[in-house]
Amino acid sequence: MSSKNREVLVIGGGVIGLCSAYYLSQAGYCVRVLEGDSTSPMTSCSDGNAGMVVPSHFIPLAAPGVISQGLKWMLNPKSPFFLRPRLDLDLARWIWLFARHSNRHHVEDSKILLRDLSLESRRLHVELSESENYPLVQKGLLMLCQSEEGLEEEIEVAQRAHEIGLEAEVCHPQRLKDLDPQAHISALGGIWWPQDCHLSPENFLRALRQAVIRNGGEFIQNQALALESNHRQITGVKTDQGRTEKADSYVLAGGIQSTGLTRHLGLKMPMQGGKGYSLTTGSLTHQPLLCSLLKEGRVAVTPMGSSLRIAGTMEICGKNQSISRARVLGIIESFCKFYPEYSPEEFLNLSPWVGLRPCSPDGLPYLGKPSKHDNLVIASGHAMMGLSLAPISGYLVKQLISGETPCFDLSPLHPNRFG
Ligand SMILES: Cc1cc2nc3c(=O)[nH]c(=O)nc-3n(C[C@H](O)[C@H](O)[C@H](O)COP(=O)(O)OP(=O)(O)OC[C@H]3O[C@@H](n4cnc5c(N)ncnc54)[C@H](O)[C@@H]3O)c2cc1C
Repeated sequence: MSSKNREVLVIGGGVIGLCSAYYLSQAGYCVRVLEGDSTSPMTSCSDGNAGMVVPSHFIPLAAPGVISQGLKWMLNPKSPFFLRPRLDLDLARWIWLFARHSNRHHVEDSKILLRDLSLESRRLHVELSESENYPLVQKGLLMLCQSEEGLEEEIEVAQRAHEIGLEAEVCHPQRLKDLDPQAHISALGGIWWPQDCHLSPENFLRALRQAVIRNGGEFIQNQALALESNHRQITGVKTDQGRTEKADSYVLAGGIQSTGLTRHLGLKMPMQGGKGYSLTTGSLTHQPLLCSLLKEGRVAVTPMGSSLRIAGTMEICGKNQSISRARVLGIIESFCKFYPEYSPEEFLNLSPWVGLRPCSPDGLPYLGKPSKHDNLVIASGHAMMGLSLAPISGYLVKQLISGETPCFDLSPLHPNRFG
């Protein structure tokens, strides 16, 4: 079907909604993006994240060992993982589904799809940075380890990556120094993932917005309250301004808020917010060249232009956006242990950014058309990989809206897979 004059309403102006709007507007659709009221507490998870593009992440969040490690961490207020206990049926069901998927079979079943989506998304990231003119640093990522046990675990991950054709190099400390001569790293060793990249999420979002506007797209600062439907069609989106926005097709990319909007359509998409924080310094004279992940502290470190961002924690918290000072301090302390040239004082006065990763219980995104509605595409639940997978997700949304056969088998990501 020709895209000319066909209207698409995208709900959500985070990385997933913007990449969808980008590819749809490039294909000639008339796109409007509903991005919530800027004064409302429903903030996006897309601007303050660590900016890493990670083909190295071929293992989903639901994997063996995650639950036992999480339980060990629960009692430490500075630990990178926390599950806020509360009496809540949605949380109970999510935990049950997460536990059911945290096994080797699920990892084996998911790794090829995650690898292929990530590599294609990386290719699109390179293409986008060139065509839209913003920096994408293609120098790889260091996974740094301070314990023997941690290093052994990561060497095993690197071996499994080799089996599926991904590049990963086990590094001793001198090799780490050669790779990043600007950084003073305190680590026993690590893995270099040369295919990973990093960027500034703010630059990325700005470039996408500008491109959508240049392609004739519009942004509306309204909140979607409900999707109205008639038989197999979505007929409009009711907003907080009392209007009903109408289009030919609709994309739901509302991050953690997506579940609330699908419930009355009879679509169950369990999701929990995986709360994380980041701190960004002002201009620094000296900083690492490469981005890194700090194994024992689960902290992400990303040079962004002349500033440095450190990010971390995964607090399964529903939609609670409160800030735990202890956990923010845990991020700062972990970072300073791996990069001892910095002191905690340099970070203590920075205001933490907080974001809720939209986490599905099997660690895979929801991407596809729900079985009961023909003109709706869901794109959410990308958890720790939303920025990384945004271009391929947006491209697949464009394919689904235009009726093309998607370039990947999307059945494992079907929005109805939990009912
Ligand atoms: C600390 C941290 C570090 C991270 N680092 C990385 C990383 O390095 N690499 C990576 O790939 N991922 C990373 N992530 C994950 C990544 O940030 C998320 O997966 C991604 O931002 C999710 O994007 P989204 O568009 O689905 O959701 P969001 O960014 O949350 O966007 C959803 C949008 O929808 C809008 N919205 C919601 N409801 C409504 C409504 N009813 N009406 C209108 N608008 C609505 C919201 O206002 C928001 O703008 C990190 C996350 C955190 C917390």
